[in-house]
Amino acid sequence: MLHDTWKTRLIRFAHLQAYGKPARQATASQSCRTILGRTLYKRKSMTSSSHWLNQIKGEVRPDEMMSQHTSLRVGGPADLYILPQDLEDLKLILRNHGDSPLFFLGEGSNLLISDRGVRGIVVSLKRGFKRITLPEFSTNAQGEEVATLKVGAGVKMSYLAKFATKYGLTGMEDLVGVPGSLGGAVVMNAGAEGTETGDVLKSVTVLNAEGDLVTYGRDQLEFKYRKTIFPQQPGVIVHAEIVLKTGDAAEIQGRIDRHLKRRSQTQPLSLPNSGSVFKNPQGEKAGQLIEQAGLKGYTVGDASVSIKHANFIVNKGSATAADVRAVIDHVRAKVKERNGIELETEVIIAGDW
Ligand SMILES: Cc1cc2nc3c(=O)[nH]c(=O)nc-3n(C[C@H](O)[C@H](O)[C@H](O)COP(=O)(O)OP(=O)(O)OC[C@H]3O[C@@H](n4cnc5c(N)ncnc54)[C@H](O)[C@@H]3O)c2cc1C
Repeated sequence: MLHDTWKTRLIRFAHLQAYGKPARQATASQSCRTILGRTLYKRKSMTSSSHWLNQIKGEVRPDEMMSQHTSLRVGGPADLYILPQDLEDLKLILRNHGDSPLFFLGEGSNLLISDRGVRGIVVSLKRGFKRITLPEFSTNAQGEEVATLKVGAGVKMSYLAKFATKYGLTGMEDLVGVPGSLGGAVVMNAGAEGTETGDVLKSVTVLNAEGDLVTYGRDQLEFKYRKTIFPQQPGVIVHAEIVLKTGDAAEIQGRIDRHLKRRSQTQPLSLPNSGSVFKNPQGEKAGQLIEQAGLKGYTVGDASVSIKHANFIVNKGSATAADVRAVIDHVRAKVKERNGIELETEVIIAGDW
């Protein structure tokens, strides 16, 4: 009998050799063989030049269900899911992925991934990019004491806010309730309580499409509502420098406690969700518009407009991405009909629809 770990390794190895694809996407013309009772199909997008995958020191998992990696708990399989261990692994991916599309995953807290999953490679920086350097103190142009920290893209925002508080640093506490990673927060310019991620950034370092490191200073970036604009297609964010002011640790902790308490009172945190589904239109609150349209509790399958917060859609158990999308489409149509306003999604709709 094979031990489970070895079974997984053998299946993974065979997949990497055969470039296996989920059965439901295979065509009759594709050759197949089986190993440990599992059918392996030749993967069209991964050719014999995919041997670079064997050099990855981190983990490579075929057919990983994205529902395991999104806060909504929906999303089908990714052809390949890679957890690079370090920058070298990440460079290997960017330089060798060929025709296979890449999708970079943070904490999956702002994503609606289709039930059919993602074609190509999903790269998660959860493993090798979680370092925060100790604060480096200096004085800014206004004579205030500030500290600079270099933060890996995979660091969770909640952890970063608590880390900063430990050193009596203020600027991150408003973002403590954002359940994403630093990389995702930079892409989305995530914001809460009047603070946006862009407010604390000094620089952002990315690995570009060629696999080269490029650092952008904050003056090269444009921070918009839930979006950061880079001078060029950024590729993948690997780390950022943030600058925080010194403050009183007890006061900062007090603000963190108040923010978290308010969230638990106003947001449906006991059920899987992806935060605010729609952006607030100019001068309006998306949640209010949805509530006024009588849509609280509107349900398709197991996906519902939250009773607690109308701009949240919750997964009540076994919702599919299609259920969530149907709720989104209905809400948009009803608000448009009632108020003439086109709601724009804040949640990113990704994958093979
Ligand atoms: C309960 C709840 C509350 C929330 N509250 C807030 C809030 O107050 N304010 C707010 O702004 N948002 C909020 N959100 C939404 C979400 O947490 C943020 O948008 C967050 O910044 C997303 O980060 P993530 O790591 O989860 O990114 P993901 O959802 O994984 O990805 C988001 C986008 O960023 C890209 N991306 C992620 N990492 C990288 C990287 N390293 N390099 C390149 N691209 C990358 C992805 O490809 C995708 O396009 C909330 C969500 C939930 C579930």
